[in-house]
Amino acid sequence: MSLGKQMSRMLQVNLDAVQHNMTVLRATAPAAQAMAVVKADGYGHGASDVGRASVEAGAEWLGVADISEALALRDSGLDVPILAWLHPDTRRFSEAVAHSVTLGVSTLGQLEAAARAAQEVRHPAVVHIKVETGLHRNGFDDDRLADAFNLARHMESRGLVRIEGIFSHLANASESADRAALDRFHSAVSLARAARLEPRLRHVAATAAGFFRPDTHLDLVRWGIGLYGVAPDDGDPRDLSLRPALTMCTRVVATRTVRAGEGISYNYADIAESDLRTALVPVGYADGIPRLASPGAWVSIGGVRCSVRGRIAMDQMVVECPPSVREGDQVTIFGDPTMGAPSVSEWAKSAGTIGYDVIARLPRPGGRLTRRAAHYNHVGASAADRIIAGHGVST
Ligand SMILES: *Cc1c(COP(=O)(O)O)cnc(C)c1O
Repeated sequence: MSLGKQMSRMLQVNLDAVQHNMTVLRATAPAAQAMAVVKADGYGHGASDVGRASVEAGAEWLGVADISEALALRDSGLDVPILAWLHPDTRRFSEAVAHSVTLGVSTLGQLEAAARAAQEVRHPAVVHIKVETGLHRNGFDDDRLADAFNLARHMESRGLVRIEGIFSHLANASESADRAALDRFHSAVSLARAARLEPRLRHVAATAAGFFRPDTHLDLVRWGIGLYGVAPDDGDPRDLSLRPALTMCTRVVATRTVRAGEGISYNYADIAESDLRTALVPVGYADGIPRLASPGAWVSIGGVRCSVRGRIAMDQMVVECPPSVREGDQVTIFGDPTMGAPSVSEWAKSAGTIGYDVIARLPRPGGRLTRRAAHYNHVGASAADRIIAGHGVST
């Protein structure tokens, strides 16, 4: 059905684009395994839908921050390896081990908790050891590595843990900074081997390094933002052969004329320079639209670029539009630029932030935002095309 009257605000997730992107990413690092990173509900796209589509397209792994996210993926029936790497506490380690969630471990306390969990559920904990190489977030520092590896080896010999991987994360600071981080990482791997550990999977690269630093691919690449068709540097995704997977659309709720010299939206921060036709678009910062994207942001109504005028409010915003625009016309807030829609990255740039920030803070569906994931083949009409045409949204 079309974007119906009941569905006033809608996120359309094109799983075909996700699968296309996974195919591109795998070809970019052909010798490495591919992890689809679906933390934060799949960067706002839906973790289980994106996870399943990615696995179908060849991803060997799923990656999340929290154990709760990993267990939700298991609940939805995904049985591939899942790595969870950020643990505010270790309370759910037993559940994680019981559900074969691989634990990224950054402290001796976590390593001990993994061994205890293994004893409790009578199943070895599969562990990837995180090494600090410059970001100063989590991971073992150089001076703690020997202790960590010795303890890990001891636990492995008792059958409590299996050290399957060793990993780190890059700062994308500069060529030389990433080189230094990679050198530190390789030293850590040597130290692990000296402690008679055999981590089969060494991994440090996320999307940016995956595309721009082939020397960081190692055994596995953790692909996040690229999977969603957003370039890691907010460049044009087409330059990386990626397709944006997400379209946000709604309908015009009112149109009017604003006379020259009159104010638009709160504080009259914007004054009509001449008589303007405007449309009221019922999405605002409560729907994840960055308030600071105005001035500068625009939406597409029937393929026409319509600038946001005045302050973006909690539930709505005003755009300048052609006289032909009518109440009920479909509006694409962001989507695939090849279909004439602004990209997530354009919104991000207007708001002084990055594409990651725009998509990750979209509200979870279930409130006033509807989210539909479907396969839209780009051969022929794209998702955005069909949504704008009003006949492409399946239920
Ligand atoms: C989020 C995250 C990723 C994915 O990063 P992208 O830049 O989105 O590809 C990879 N690894 C870790 C540890 C992360 O936290």
